[in-house]
Amino acid sequence: MNEPASPALASISLANRAAIEDAAVLIRKAERAVVLTGAGISTPSGIPDFRSEGTGLWSREEPLEVASLSTFRTAPERFFHWFQPLANRIFRAQPNSAHLALAEFERSGHVKTIVTQNIDSLHQKAGSKNVVELHGTLRTLSCIECFEHFTADPFLEPYIETGNIPKCLSCNGILKPDVILFGEQLPQAAWYEAQRAARGCDLMVVAGSSLEVLPVAGLPMQALDRGAHLIIINNTPTYLNVRADVIIMDDVAITIPEIAKRVFHG
Ligand SMILES: [Zn+2]
Repeated sequence: MNEPASPALASISLANRAAIEDAAVLIRKAERAVVLTGAGISTPSGIPDFRSEGTGLWSREEPLEVASLSTFRTAPERFFHWFQPLANRIFRAQPNSAHLALAEFERSGHVKTIVTQNIDSLHQKAGSKNVVELHGTLRTLSCIECFEHFTADPFLEPYIETGNIPKCLSCNGILKPDVILFGEQLPQAAWYEAQRAARGCDLMVVAGSSLEVLPVAGLPMQALDRGAHLIIINNTPTYLNVRADVIIMDDVAITIPEIAKRVFHG
């Protein structure tokens, strides 16, 4: 038997190596592939999945409650206190090898659209252009009083440093990050765009999402209903594993670059 070609490959089970080959074949054949990414693609970049229990950073606060629109309205200081370490991680995070491989797929025409549940802009930092952000972004902030928009960076650094709530330069109102909190509707334009991509694709790749949050979890079903193939790359099983053509239950930062090697170099 040949030795594995790379140290990363050595850590991948034989079943997953076969699945990686199958995934590469599907991606090569696809003409309109869409990738749906969730928190799992950013955990290798040091950003914890704040929706999951037991991630440590916020064991004292229940994210569902503190990261909700109602808490933001009634007790914004609680939200900003909770959000501080997460904002710090996001502000300093760099894209990992999974983000970079997906950007490469887009440049080469293998992937048309990335639909993401993440707010960290790591796909864009990796070079992806066509990114639909279903949960908004931390790149901008909006005043809750006068609705003026601001680029986040000049406000984030002092907020991360001091914990002080960022305030509007025009009216001193509270600046809310343009991220979707629990209890908020998805941004309509992004949701429409995501559904259009899902319904028009011939391959959907789910990467780092457990498909637990509706309505986003329903997007792969919309693709399947129109005859698309489905690849699921996630550490834990999802409700759609039974319908997937290829399932890779392993680290996205190891497996997606391995798929890319096969797509680009055979
Ligand atoms: Zn204002």
